[in-house]
Amino acid sequence: PYDVLVVGGGPAGSSAAIYAARKGIRTGIVAERFGGQVQDTLGIENFITTTYTEGPKLVANLEEHVRDYKVDIMNSMRAKSLQKKDLFELELENGATLKSKTIVLSTGARWRNTGVPGEAEFKNKGVAYCPHCDGPIFEGKDVAVIGGGNSGVEAAIDLAGIVKHVTLIEFAPELKADNVLQDRLYSLSNVTVLANARTSEIYGSDKVEGLKYVDRETEEEKSIELAGVFIQIGLVPNTEWLQDTVELNKFGEIVVDDHGTTSIPGVFAAGDCTNSAYKQIIISMGSGATASLGAFDHIIRN
Ligand code: FAD
Repeated sequence: PYDVLVVGGGPAGSSAAIYAARKGIRTGIVAERFGGQVQDTLGIENFITTTYTEGPKLVANLEEHVRDYKVDIMNSMRAKSLQKKDLFELELENGATLKSKTIVLSTGARWRNTGVPGEAEFKNKGVAYCPHCDGPIFEGKDVAVIGGGNSGVEAAIDLAGIVKHVTLIEFAPELKADNVLQDRLYSLSNVTVLANARTSEIYGSDKVEGLKYVDRETEEEKSIELAGVFIQIGLVPNTEWLQDTVELNKFGEIVVDDHGTTSIPGVFAAGDCTNSAYKQIIISMGSGATASLGAFDHIIRN
């Protein structure tokens, strides 16, 4: 059996695996797709110590660092269920079962997609999901934010300080964000809010040039010229398979304390799959280290 079995091979899981292996304990990492969301990222400018890197390059660095230690990397394997017997038993989709004294869950999250034509095609070519990451790329340009919940309105306020103009598009007749955020949004001179609007297409040639939407009251289709579209309709944690196992909050995020401990002693969690504030590479790496040290602490006490 493993001492620490990490589920998820993104920045959180990689960090957890390295911290565990450095304690000289048996460490394994199971990942459906090693690298996680970082695989899908183009430019990264906020990974401190590196002014600019690209997703696939950072993933290669992550893998090289993990492989520098005695860690069993089990890539292209998806965890299906977790049970506590004598040891924890992690069942995989391929039928295998892995045993471990402790578990670190780091299965990350995925951005909810609108599914409109052009969204997938222009991903990283004007279609973006993270204002903290990609906002500065659109300095001085016109952008839209799709989604009028708290994250959409926060994104619009954030972007308004960087870009030339922001159009916020909400499907429902009213914004759902907290009133303080809405007040702040409406106080900004370079933001237009379009409620009751259904985005119908993101168009462009080699990159985004604009967006079409349908005014739901008149059913009229209109178009706006833009350089970027930020999609903010939700971040979904990859925790469906854990629903009846560990405590999740109403967003489906694994509830952890400041040691990365979940509701089950011996099970720790880190990164975007948890209720941690803010979802970023550097933050998930930090929480991966925390969870792994928490797991080590658990092992020496039990
Ligand atoms: P993830 O990266 O999501 O990794 C999750 C891992 O778990 C993957 O290996 C996945 O395959 C695996 N997994 C999931 N379910 C299972 C299962 N059932 N069994 C086994 N394995 C499973 N952050 C920044 O700091 N800077 C940026 O510039 C930046 N740009 C971004 C651009 C894009 C397009 C996206 C999508 C995100 C961006 N982020 C950026 C956010 C950043 O990528 C995430 O915060 C970070 O990757 C979270 O790390 P994680 O390890 O928690 O999860």
